[in-house]
Amino acid sequence: MAIVVQKYGGSSVADADMIRNVARRISESFNKGNKVVAVVSAMGDTTDDLIELAGRITPNPEPREMDLLLSTGEIVSSTLLAMALHAMGYKAVALSGPQAGISTDSSFSRARITGIEPRRIIKELDKGNIVIVAGFQGLTVDNDIATLGRGGSDTTAVALAASLKASICEIYTDVEGVYTADPRIEPEAVKLDEIGYEEMLEMATSGARVLHHRSVELGQVYNMPILVASSMVKQRGTVIRGGKNMEARNKVRGIAHDMDVAKITVTNVPDRPGIAAAIFLPLAKAGISVDTIVQNASANNITDLTFTVTRNDLVKAMDIIAPVAKEIGARECLSDSKLGKVSIIGTGMQNTPGYAAKMFQTLFEHSINIQLITTSEIRITCIIAEDKVKDAVRALHKAFELNKG
Ligand code: ASP
Ligand code: MG
Repeated sequence: MAIVVQKYGGSSVADADMIRNVARRISESFNKGNKVVAVVSAMGDTTDDLIELAGRITPNPEPREMDLLLSTGEIVSSTLLAMALHAMGYKAVALSGPQAGISTDSSFSRARITGIEPRRIIKELDKGNIVIVAGFQGLTVDNDIATLGRGGSDTTAVALAASLKASICEIYTDVEGVYTADPRIEPEAVKLDEIGYEEMLEMATSGARVLHHRSVELGQVYNMPILVASSMVKQRGTVIRGGKNMEARNKVRGIAHDMDVAKITVTNVPDRPGIAAAIFLPLAKAGISVDTIVQNASANNITDLTFTVTRNDLVKAMDIIAPVAKEIGARECLSDSKLGKVSIIGTGMQNTPGYAAKMFQTLFEHSINIQLITTSEIRITCIIAEDKVKDAVRALHKAFELNKG
C-alpha cells in the first residue's frame, strides 16, 4: 500500500463544515487503498489571532511561550479533523508534532526540522488509522515545542513525505496550482501542469507565494514530487518535480512580481575594502534581509551603492544606515519606497541569448522605466515603479506568449 501525505492549509479548514469537507477528501484517498497521513495548518486566521492576543498581554513575549502558544492552533485543527473522520466511521488519530516524532533545533519561531523518527506514525498506519499531524511544530532537544515559522506546515508535510518515503506530497490550498502569472493580474495566465524545483524556488523568491520556500528546498533535496492543488474544486493542480519528464526546457515558464520593494541608495561611497561590510553587517545584525544589491564601477574611487529591502524594513534600515554613511564619508542616503519588481523565470533561459533584450524592449515599449536589474541563471528581475508592475506583468506575459500554455 502506498503512503500518501496530504496537507491542508488554514483557509481549507477555517470552520466545521470545511473540516468535514477535508475529512471527506482524506477518506476518498483512504478508500482507494492508500495509507494516508494528513498535515494541517491552524484554522483560518488562528495564528494571527494568537499573535495579536499575545501582543495585548505584552509587547515582548518570551519566544518559548510564544511557540508553545502558536502550536496550539494546529493542535485544534488536527484533533477536530480526526473527530470529523471518527464521525464518518473512520479510524483516525491526531498527533502533535512531537508525538509524530518531529525534532527541531531550538531557534523558536523559525526552527528547522533536524530529524523525523516516524515509528509512531507507521505503527498507527499499520493499525489501519488515518494519521493527522499538527503542522508547523516539533520538539527541541530540551523537550520544548518550537514552530517552523509562518507557513511552515508545508515544510512539515514535505519532511514527513520524505521520511515515510511517500510516493507524493499533496498540498491542498486556496489556489488551484502554480500559474504562469498571478491570475488576479493577468486573466490569461495559464495553470502549469509541472514546474521544476529550481523554477519554483525562483518564482517564490520573486513574489509568487504559493508554498513555504523551505518545503520546495526539501522537495528538491529528497526528490519528492509536490502536488499543489485546490482543496475546494476537483481539478488537476501543478506538480513540482525534478527529472526528465519536464516540459520543453526552451522558454520562460512564468512571470513573478512583488509589490513590496523599497530601495536605499548611498551616494559617493569611498571605494575601499571593508565598506560594503560596514554597511551590510549592521543590517544583518538587525535581522533585515537585503534583496538586490548593486554597486557601480567606481570613478575616482567613489561609487554609489544601492540595495532593496521590504517596505516594512525601510525606516529601520534608514535609521541604521544614515549614521554608518556619515561615518564612512558617503555623501547621502536616499530612499524610495514605492517600487516593485517583475521577473521572468525559466530554466530554458540558461545559456540562451535574447531573453533579457526582449524583456527590456517590452518594458520600453510600455514606457516602463527600469531602475535596477538583477539576474540568476534562470531569472531576470527588473525593479520598476510600483504603479507599473501590473502593466509589466501583462506585457511580459504576452511578449513571451505564456497564454498559449
Ligand atoms: N499556522 C501557521 C501560520 O499561519 C503555519 C501554517 O499555516 O503553515 O503561519
Ligand atoms: Mg496559516
